[in-house]
Amino acid sequence: MRNLAVIGTGYVGLVTGVCLSEVGHHVVCIDVDEEKVKKMKSGIPPIFEPGLEELMIKNIKNGQLHFTTDYTEGLKNAEVIYITVGTPQNIDGSADLKYIKQVAKDIGLHVTHDVIVATKSTVPVGTNELVHKIIQENLKENVQIDIVSNPEFLREGFAIYDTFNNDRTVIGTSQDHAAKIMTEINQPFNVPIFITDIRSAEMIKYASNAFLATKISFINEIALICEKIGANVDDVAYGMGQDSRIGPKFLDAGIGYGGSCFPKDSIALVKMAENVNHSFKILNSVIEINKKQQMILVEKAKERFGSLKGKKCAMLGLSFKPNTDDVRESACIYISKRLIDEGAEVSAYDPIAIENAKKILDSKVKYGANMEETLQDTDFVFILTDWKEFIDFPLDKFSDLMKFPIIFDGRNCYNLEDVKQYPIEYHSIGRASII
Ligand code: NAD
Repeated sequence: MRNLAVIGTGYVGLVTGVCLSEVGHHVVCIDVDEEKVKKMKSGIPPIFEPGLEELMIKNIKNGQLHFTTDYTEGLKNAEVIYITVGTPQNIDGSADLKYIKQVAKDIGLHVTHDVIVATKSTVPVGTNELVHKIIQENLKENVQIDIVSNPEFLREGFAIYDTFNNDRTVIGTSQDHAAKIMTEINQPFNVPIFITDIRSAEMIKYASNAFLATKISFINEIALICEKIGANVDDVAYGMGQDSRIGPKFLDAGIGYGGSCFPKDSIALVKMAENVNHSFKILNSVIEINKKQQMILVEKAKERFGSLKGKKCAMLGLSFKPNTDDVRESACIYISKRLIDEGAEVSAYDPIAIENAKKILDSKVKYGANMEETLQDTDFVFILTDWKEFIDFPLDKFSDLMKFPIIFDGRNCYNLEDVKQYPIEYHSIGRASII
């Protein structure tokens, strides 16, 4: 088993550190956020991720997992250093590498022995070469630095499961020694390993996210056509997905993709292509379709009511998808702003993400303690996230709580035949409305 350091303890870094410790490695997680590190030292994860807290506490107790803000202490014995800091967007959409560059500099300044540096953050092609250069420029000792691109494919909400059950682990390196050590470290996860060069590994991550985003925008376009020609997009997607060349996943029509990855990574790939004089036409369309799709419920509501001025809307679901507290680039941000601009009153509820949402949504948004309180006396409801709690909610309660139940379902949570049993007006995506 190896001594490992993980730099950055967000959704990727903390899950990586915890899972590596769970399979027996000795892991030190480093973060610059003192508050976070203090919390984590006492076993409190700063993010919500199913199963994370239990594994974290277990491995802190058995001495496999440590947290620090101190690079000297954190890197002292590391044989592999993982970089897992954020790569947000610059104003022009390209990836902002300020955290990556800072980490590379700090590794250079603090490392005093031969080490492998593996980047898990999603970084544009060529960034690992830059990381190598910055480390070399700052080294105080004559030591060997091997660079690996090891992109992360976990899904928030299933991050622990995914780490142990991923479809593949990608290792990009030009060094046989580094490939051997990385393979050995990952062996206990029993995930197929694909070894390639650094640039291809970096590109695999962007190409994968862009392809998944394309599937989503594709089915959303099909949904719009289905509505106009009287087909049911859920059945269409099911029929398509049975073809093994297509596959059933990422064919759920809805209000588009959000989150901290697809939006920023698809734009970053467009920028990367532009830098080599290529116009990525498909991906540009995917991004444009998604922006439009995020507003589809507002358009449907406006068509239904004429004006939204003074109407009371309940917004159910604030995280960009279920089972996470992450609200980064969640559709609720744009939808709530538009509703308020249109003069509507917005009450909102989410089982987990309310505290994070409060930090970014307009102060005019009010929050309910539960679904019942949020729906009370509203004119219409927007379902934005397919939380199980919403799917399981008894349909008759909508009629009990609302003035007259008008549901705009952005995630096709309910079966049309079930809805028809109740006095509910129901509009969903790519399916006939029930009026
Ligand atoms: P995050 O914003 O949740 O976490 C980043 C962490 O890095 C923060 O805790 C921050 O305090 C810390 N940090 C910043 N600068 C630091 C420094 N100099 N030294 C130490 N720590 C520092 O980010 P995330 O969502 O975990 O994403 C990390 C990377 O992984 C991004 O490139 C992202 O695109 C990629 N990724 C994310 C996911 C996901 O589902 N979130 C999945 C796959 C890949």
